[in-house]
Formats: sequence, structure tokens, C-alpha cells
Amino acid sequence: MLAQATQDAARMRQPQGVGLDSPVVRQRMVARLTGLASEPVLRALSQVPRHRFVDPALAPQAYEDTALPIGHGQTISKPSVVARMLQLLSEGHTARGQGHLGRVLEIGTGCGYQAAVLCALSRALVSVERIAGLHVQSSERLRAWQREHHPRLPLQLLHDDGSRTGLAIGPFDSIIAAAGGEHLPQAWLDWLAPGGRLVAPVSEEGAQALLVVDHETNQGRTFYRRQRLEAVAFVPLRSGLE
Ligand code: SAH
Repeated sequence: MLAQATQDAARMRQPQGVGLDSPVVRQRMVARLTGLASEPVLRALSQVPRHRFVDPALAPQAYEDTALPIGHGQTISKPSVVARMLQLLSEGHTARGQGHLGRVLEIGTGCGYQAAVLCALSRALVSVERIAGLHVQSSERLRAWQREHHPRLPLQLLHDDGSRTGLAIGPFDSIIAAAGGEHLPQAWLDWLAPGGRLVAPVSEEGAQALLVVDHETNQGRTFYRRQRLEAVAFVPLRSGLE
């Protein structure tokens, strides 16, 4: 009885509007994504305060299922698209049933939101961003995030062109691209470990759609199996640095 009364009193003392830092706000967002992704992906999404990765003026919209501008003409993907892509990765051969994605490469760090979510799902994470301003800003946020929440995770943040063949990185069990090109860069296939999976938006005849590529092996033979899924609208994959 007393416990119940204490709980009731505590509930009455709560302010009407819940602050954006409250886990309740994130859990509401994640509740709307149920069905799109499994428990480990939803749990990872529920840990990251999305409003802290966008301009404070956009913070009130951070928990809606919308893409938001992050400066330099770039946008952060909708939470439902992030959930969908992370779920597709987690269904890859190596990651399947493990609750994590192994060694992960993200192309397009942007504001760092998706990388922060990936911290909870990766055994090692490399994220590459070609725009210096975004790289510097997101590195600061991500380093602080990692120190506080995932101190043992190897995290590498690169200012580079993530589709450049000469980049000496990999192999990776999971590769996720946040920008879409006209074709899949050969470098990504080269970096994908056997059993690994890649998820990327790729355009074909002007229509952009999600592409899933699995690096499979059979009796010593290695091959790439491709599946083209639903239409998406990502910012373009560009080469060179800014
Ligand atoms: N995952 C990001 C999404 C950012 S949008 C987030 O959570 O905010 C996609 C990003 O890809 C942009 O910042 C863009 O600059 C970057 N990008 C585009 N082409 C790239 C390339 N070749 N190498 C690295 N980053 C690239």
C-alpha cells in the first residue's frame, strides 16, 4: 500500500512535458519502430539521444520519423530507415543470431547519430566522412559518446573518401552506406569479409533503392549475392574531399 502511495505521489510530481533527454521520449520513438527491427537493434536505438546530434533548433523534431538537415547540404536518415538498414545487416550470415554486427564500416558519418547507434552493435567500428566540417563536429560528439558508453570499443573516425580503392581498411563483417551512388564501389566488395553483408542505397536508371550484398563462400569458391529491395532517398555518394 505504502509503495503504491509513494509511486502515485512520484507520478504526480512529474512535470507535464517530458524533457528530450528523458529515456521515455526515445522509448516512444522506438515503440513506433517495433516490427521493423529485432530486440538488439531496437535496444541500440533506444540508447541514443537523437536530438543531441542535430542543430538545437531542430531538437523538437528529433523524435519524429523524419529526415533532418545536418548542414553542408546533408541530411540525417529517418529513424525507421536506420532501423531497417541495421536490421538487414543483423540478418547477414556472420551477424545472424549473434546480437551484434562484428567489425563494422559506416560510409558517411554525417552528424554521428547512426555511428552512435552502431557503437552498441559493433565489435569494432570504422566510420568515414568526406566533409571536414562534419567529420570534426561528429568526431567530438562520438568520442565523448564512446568514452562514456562503450570505452572498450575500437572506434576509428576517418576524414576520407569512403569509396576510394586505395583506402587501407577492412575486412569488415558489416558495411553500411548512408549515401547512394550510381553503382556499388568495388572497394566495398573488396573490404567485405566472407560471410559479411553490405547494405547501401544504389541508383539504377535514376531510381535509388536499397541493395543488400552478401559475400558468400561455397567449397572454396567465393561470390557475391545481390538483392535489390525497396526505393529510398539518400543524399548522393560523392568522391574526393571537402
Ligand atoms: N549516418 C549519417 C548520415 C549522414 S548523410 C548520420 O547519422 O548523420 C550521408 C553522409 O555521407 C554525408 O555526411 C556525406 O557527406 C557523406 N558522404 C557522401 N559521399 C561520401 C564518401 N564518398 N565518403 C565518405 N562520406 C561520404
